[in-house]
Amino acid sequence: MPRILVTNDDGVHSPGLAALVAAMKPLGDVTVVAPATEMSAVSHALTITRPLRLERVRDGVFAVDGTPTDCVTLAYVKVLDAPPDLVVSGINLGYNLSVDITYSGTVAGAMEGTIFGVPSIAFSLCRTKVYDFTQATWAARVVAQRVLDTGLPLRTLLNVNIPQERVRGFRVTIAAGRTYRPEVLEGIDPRGRTYFWIKEGQSDVDPGPRSDYHAVREGFVSVTPLRPDLTHHAEVESALALALPETLADSIQLV
Ligand code: MN
Repeated sequence: MPRILVTNDDGVHSPGLAALVAAMKPLGDVTVVAPATEMSAVSHALTITRPLRLERVRDGVFAVDGTPTDCVTLAYVKVLDAPPDLVVSGINLGYNLSVDITYSGTVAGAMEGTIFGVPSIAFSLCRTKVYDFTQATWAARVVAQRVLDTGLPLRTLLNVNIPQERVRGFRVTIAAGRTYRPEVLEGIDPRGRTYFWIKEGQSDVDPGPRSDYHAVREGFVSVTPLRPDLTHHAEVESALALALPETLADSIQLV
């Protein structure tokens, strides 16, 4: 039986986590290590300035008062007897498309598994008022089974986004380009002090035909391969064109 580690960023009590557990149960031996409370948009944060507590919620389910990255770390080092065969993260309540990938705690949980050398997948579902996980559970099981059967290349994870309407199939995609205009609400708290609350801003999306945005809009499950390496390999040449001084002596003459 493959060992499957499940985490998320919406917290150990999220219905999306329960759906992912249900999706994985027929595929292997499932252990859950998830944040005790919601940790959405914490990205790849690792808690190093305070101790962490691991609480056993019930058999095979643990809560950590930290981030998804903390959860995968504690699971790997302290909870599991042996490294997992698969790490899955989600199912997030809301898409993680385009540059949202960089904010996502859901994606980071899978990213951490990848950094530990374990095939890993992040799952996110279209945001709605009332969630129906039937399709998402099925889609997660299909993708996870394929990954368990064939593996993933080293240092590669999958970012999977599932539409809410009737799914037409699966598409391998690239993350859409997006420029973001941030928005911040301002108000006065009960003690008369000004507060700020960051809200979802306006986006200019470039929903190219191969993009994740386009796939989910067309009713397909979007599967984007990601890697922890953020190097923009195609732009190494343009960085070289900056002609940065190679030595301190050269740099003194520049400025
Ligand atoms: Mn979330």
